[in-house]
Amino acid sequence: MTVTWEDLGWERVAAGVGRCRLPVWDCTAGLVAGEGAVLLIDAGSSPSEGARLREQARAITGHRVTHLALTHPHFDHVFGVAAFTDAEVFGAVGVDGVLTRVRDREELRADAVRNGLAQATAAEAVDLLSPPRHLVSGEWTLDLGGGRQVLLANVGPGHTAHDLAVLVPGDPEVVFCGDLVEESGDPQAGPDALPSHWPAALDRLLDLGGEDALYVPGHGAVVDAAFVRAQRDALAARFGVSR
Ligand SMILES: [Zn+2]
Repeated sequence: MTVTWEDLGWERVAAGVGRCRLPVWDCTAGLVAGEGAVLLIDAGSSPSEGARLREQARAITGHRVTHLALTHPHFDHVFGVAAFTDAEVFGAVGVDGVLTRVRDREELRADAVRNGLAQATAAEAVDLLSPPRHLVSGEWTLDLGGGRQVLLANVGPGHTAHDLAVLVPGDPEVVFCGDLVEESGDPQAGPDALPSHWPAALDRLLDLGGEDALYVPGHGAVVDAAFVRAQRDALAARFGVSR
């Protein structure tokens, strides 16, 4: 028997679609159940957190995670990938370089430690990183069976040079935004952000989901199109980008 989303502390967003807010960094992991296939969105902040997500996904859906989409290469979203070696992994084109180049891996490790991840855990996670097998430059439709199709869309750059969003059609439609949208605080623009491109990335996100979609941010509560539009305008003002 499968357990419910709520049993494991997940939030059901639509039929067969849910998310959880992971501890410490309040990072979102998303889950979309098809028939015989299950998509996880982001892998958590450590190999052990990835393994926990894997177990919870199986408990909720009754099936192993067959597909993993990485929204962007930051430690709290990708350090759990080692738990999904038997899944088809997707990322925006260029993520492969960030996860394999020595200098980028070292920066990921250092950023994780700066943010409070234990030294040994960060070192282990970086050792176990592997690039996605499938690189998305445009859009990619995934068929998860049972009539469930999702769209992976390379909507960036913005928060990073490699931002991937996931659109799940349905009623309501659900858009997993990665850290292009944050609700629990101002969007984090680190040294790898491309602020001048960020408002346009949010325009593409809004085009994808439309007015009635639910937008799941990388950090914080689920929001609506009006919130995303307001964040777009705030980012444009913050970074001096004209319309
Ligand atoms: Zn991020």
